[in-house]
Amino acid sequence: MTKAFDIKNEKTYQLAVIGSPIGHSLSPLIHTTLLDYLGLKYTYEKAEVNEGELAGFIERAKESCLCGFNVTMPHKRVIIPYLDEISEDAQRFNSVNTVKISKGRLIGFNTDADGFCMSLPSSGEELKDARVVIIGAGGASSSLALKAAYSDAASVTVLNRSVEKASEICRAVTDSTGISSRPLSLSSENLNTECADADIIINATPLGMAGTKHNFESLEFLEYTKKSTVVCDLIYNPSETELLKKARTLGLKYINGLGMLIFQGLIADKIFLDTDFDAHTVAKLIKEKYEKAI
Ligand code: NAP
Repeated sequence: MTKAFDIKNEKTYQLAVIGSPIGHSLSPLIHTTLLDYLGLKYTYEKAEVNEGELAGFIERAKESCLCGFNVTMPHKRVIIPYLDEISEDAQRFNSVNTVKISKGRLIGFNTDADGFCMSLPSSGEELKDARVVIIGAGGASSSLALKAAYSDAASVTVLNRSVEKASEICRAVTDSTGISSRPLSLSSENLNTECADADIIINATPLGMAGTKHNFESLEFLEYTKKSTVVCDLIYNPSETELLKKARTLGLKYINGLGMLIFQGLIADKIFLDTDFDAHTVAKLIKEKYEKAI
């Protein structure tokens, strides 16, 4: 049996990340770098909390010195009924990655999509009026499709192996914002056609990730894009996937997923600590630490 997370009884300010598995989480690196930068004496811990342990964890969290915690798989959706309040984005995405504890009340937020926007070359401004093509239809795709739609994108196309999941996301996009949204199956033909018109292409699948043998069957679709297209891979390991390597070779603008990961954490810290700081300066420090650590 896995040991449930043990919240310390010490009277210190505590922060944590909960999930399962949590061993490889980069959250401590992100948050402790910021806490050191601000000179704050908070602790930040990784907490293995399995599916059946969430209710118990929440009860103990309310009685503890925990000021807040980050939430990752598998709790991002199932935690919602346990919270006293959730933010507009968390409600829209039906997903919570940040919980602030204030006077015994638990308030849920979702900072993933804002983190992605901050990692874009123009901090998200490029979503307005953009033709956005998202590959994949899981949790990340869903949040980013809705974020693009609420940012007044011109259109959102979702390509996925199982087209039914893409259809669900596109329905949610159109129903909630009226933005034109099209689900398509993930074929080379569809990629070639859709990417030719795209302003932003986002890979929200594990295709090309370290540790998986699966990759795009063909990257030919990048050859049809406009020179101004921004290619985004949510993967950060490896730092340059085959997709991004080809984007670089073709002279396109591109970003990997490390910026999104770092900025979602720093936005969460602004919420936990109720303080402001230059996130881009701290993100640079975190990137340097990460590159030294890998
Ligand atoms: P998810 O909910 O599990 O969704 C995964 C998606 O990838 C599904 O649409 C799935 O298609 C598709 N997929 C998986 N294996 C595939 C394959 N062999 N061929 C084609 N499609 C495949 O995952 P998620 O949370 O959305 O994450 C998606 C990616 O984004 C992951 O690489 C994750 O590491 C990354 N991510 C990065 C950040 C960041 O901060 N940088 C944050 C969140 C996620 P089906 O629906 O057909 O199964």
